[in-house]
Amino acid sequence: MSKHTTVREDFDRYMIPMYSPASFIPVSGEGSSIYDQDGKHYIDFAGGIAVNALGHANRDLQQALVEQASKLWHTGNGYTNEPVLALAKQLVESTFADKVFFCNSGAEANEASLKLARKYALDHFGEGKNEIIAFNNAFHGRTLFTVSAGGQPKYSQDFSPLPGGIHHVPFNDLDAVKATISHKTCAIIVEPVQGEGGVIPADPAFLQGLRDLCDEHNALLIFDEVQTGIGRTGHLYAYMSYGVTPDVLSTAKALGGGFPIGGILTTDKYATALPIGSHGTTYGGNPLASAVAGKALSIINDDAFLQGVATRHDQFVSALTKINQDLDVFSDIRGSGLLIGCELKSEYAGQAKTISNLAAEEGLMALIAGPNVVRVAPALNISTDEIEQGMQRLHSALKRFLKR
Ligand SMILES: *Cc1c(COP(=O)(O)O)cnc(C)c1O
Repeated sequence: MSKHTTVREDFDRYMIPMYSPASFIPVSGEGSSIYDQDGKHYIDFAGGIAVNALGHANRDLQQALVEQASKLWHTGNGYTNEPVLALAKQLVESTFADKVFFCNSGAEANEASLKLARKYALDHFGEGKNEIIAFNNAFHGRTLFTVSAGGQPKYSQDFSPLPGGIHHVPFNDLDAVKATISHKTCAIIVEPVQGEGGVIPADPAFLQGLRDLCDEHNALLIFDEVQTGIGRTGHLYAYMSYGVTPDVLSTAKALGGGFPIGGILTTDKYATALPIGSHGTTYGGNPLASAVAGKALSIINDDAFLQGVATRHDQFVSALTKINQDLDVFSDIRGSGLLIGCELKSEYAGQAKTISNLAAEEGLMALIAGPNVVRVAPALNISTDEIEQGMQRLHSALKRFLKR
């Protein structure tokens, strides 16, 4: 009999089987280290899927959480609260935005962005301007609207009828957008770096081209920065490094450093599209989430901290390149900041999940991005020691992979 009162088998017994989690159960962590039920140590290159930007059990976040927890958790949006106003001010002062709205997840943020775009077009141009252009392989979340905007039919096709008026075109293909956009288009939604789709950065000229096309056609440019935001690429938001400013930006994942919160950023002009009663959420902007996010943002939105992300990017890429010189498994190592994808050579296509399973056996948590890409999205403050230890384990896992 197991010495634990809850075990991995309970997942199969009690949980709706939409995931297949690893065979171990993590129970505690510190920085980029995690321990499972049996005390086995893992280095965390997954970062809770680009969420735990400050690592596990971060002292400052703990303090913000506990302090707020002793005061006020929730009031509902019939009342505002101090932490949410402070967080909103921080975001407005640090970005293109004049106004923000808070929700609880990335999908909810994109849902709000898309609803805003449809509503703005209706208010200003009347019925008929409601089409949305999105990209093949994009990922925008799992609500029906966002999964329909996403460009992976396997996630949406079984839930029809789907919301209409969404056109998908190839990513980084400006001509395809030109051929599709019209006076009926109300928005283009795009990830500056496709995350789930394989860690594929947008070409700068592509994003600038989208900006120009949106301006010509009175369409809103929505950047889905749920994965790329909050320091992930070495900039507070990826749009800042591209020099292309969206009209609406969705943010979530790392915003709360592990505490669920999402939001949208926009300008005064577009904020008018969502007046009193037009949209909402029970938990969005609650004091607890806002207090933690405010602390996370104040730590991350700092030049020295963001410079540290760039330094760690170089450490990751050089370590991965070295491993690849030895083992020759990757055809490409790409990405920006601490969102890095390693594309498997064609002879190993489809085996990214096998590699991440082997890595877990070696004591390393790593992600995949589709069947052919091993992805890392670690804490932005991961230490040099943790990087080196994780790379040794990855090296061992890949050696075992090649031997099989
Ligand atoms: C993770 C992700 C989402 C969905 O966020 P949830 O919090 O899971 O709803 C949306 N867009 C992008 C780019 C993401 O990476």
